[in-house]
Amino acid sequence: MGADDQKPFAVRVLTIFPGMFPGPLGESLAGRALEDGLWSLETVDIRDFARDKHRSVDDTPFGGGAGMVMRPDVVGDALAAVARSGTPLIYLSPRGRLLDQARVRALASGPGMGLLCGRFEGVDERVLEAHEIEELSLGDFVLSGGEPAAIALIDACVRLLPGVVGRSESLAEESFAGGLLEYPHYTRPREWRGRGVPEALLSGHHERIREWRIAAAEHATRERRPDLWRRYRQRLEGYDDERD
Ligand code: SAH
Repeated sequence: MGADDQKPFAVRVLTIFPGMFPGPLGESLAGRALEDGLWSLETVDIRDFARDKHRSVDDTPFGGGAGMVMRPDVVGDALAAVARSGTPLIYLSPRGRLLDQARVRALASGPGMGLLCGRFEGVDERVLEAHEIEELSLGDFVLSGGEPAAIALIDACVRLLPGVVGRSESLAEESFAGGLLEYPHYTRPREWRGRGVPEALLSGHHERIREWRIAAAEHATRERRPDLWRRYRQRLEGYDDERD
């Protein structure tokens, strides 16, 4: 794959709070990877594209109602700077498609991403249409701004970049990798407040451990996430159909 492989995963964040970055991404795994040049981070201050001396980026909504809306002219100009880079553009938004590990994996295997962080009631719809921005949501809850969501998305992508997480097996087995939640974990002490550790994990018998973990992952998924469980079952049955 050559020289292109060496290019860092390029992240550009459009925000009115550039001081929030790298924030928690400057620590631990992501922080080290940033220092090592495995990914790069650039913030674009949306206020730099404001047109008045108050540097305002928002205005009242047409149709009335509470709150303010981020102006398409200001946000559009800020986006134009990032759009040229050729990486996918994403608006973090509770109205977006739910982010999942498959999307994270696809993004992490690409050249990088441009992330638009909303504030107030959000961004004028026309700017999203004009730039064909993908909208991604972190979950069915409302944050006060897109920045914490951007930090979460960046974190999820960066840990998948080659060389960031030490042992790649820990990525292959984790939650969602095979459509299941992960099995539970135990470490020393062997007994804690009268609670032991599942017998199979102490057996030293690899096949028994593997079977216990699969059963525990299936159990957790069935109990906690009927939506994932249904899809997992359908996929298994799909394979069976093909074999028949
Ligand atoms: N009025 C909007 C909420 C705006 S919250 C609504 O009801 O849909 C302000 C900003 O926070 C949004 O523009 C978005 O960038 C961010 N945000 C809020 N919740 C989010 C979520 N669940 N996922 C991703 N971004 C979110």
